[in-house]
Amino acid sequence: MSDCIFCKIVNGDIPCDKIYENENVIAFKDIQPQAPVHVLVIPKEHIESLNDIDENLDIIKDIHLAINKIVKEYNIDRDGYRVVNNCGKQGGQTVNHLHYHVLGGRNLNWPPG
Ligand code: 5GP
Ligand code: ZN
Repeated sequence: MSDCIFCKIVNGDIPCDKIYENENVIAFKDIQPQAPVHVLVIPKEHIESLNDIDENLDIIKDIHLAINKIVKEYNIDRDGYRVVNNCGKQGGQTVNHLHYHVLGGRNLNWPPG
């Protein structure tokens, strides 16, 4: 999608601090990190939100396998981490390209505000 920031990151039109990539998924550091580890994991394909995955469960599997690798790479798998998907306006989604936040490296409060 031409005016989507994350599609531009996928295409290399906007730079990012990429930490993982495979055929279907890329992961990069959030530009405004909320924790010592704050990574965004996104499908390369433009999918607007979790509402739009339809039957495409393969992408959810790919994202979760990527998260599994990333948390081990950053050594946050043992102490714990949080995976967040903000969906829609009230869910706090500001970029309309499906993405999962992976946060770790500090104690994370619950419930969120
Ligand atoms: P949302 O609020 O939609 O769940 O999360 C969007 C996230 O994307 C935010 O945490 C924001 O900091 C991050 N973000 C927005 N634009 C960019 C960008 O150009 N580069 C990177 N690396 N992160 C971005
Ligand atoms: Zn997009």
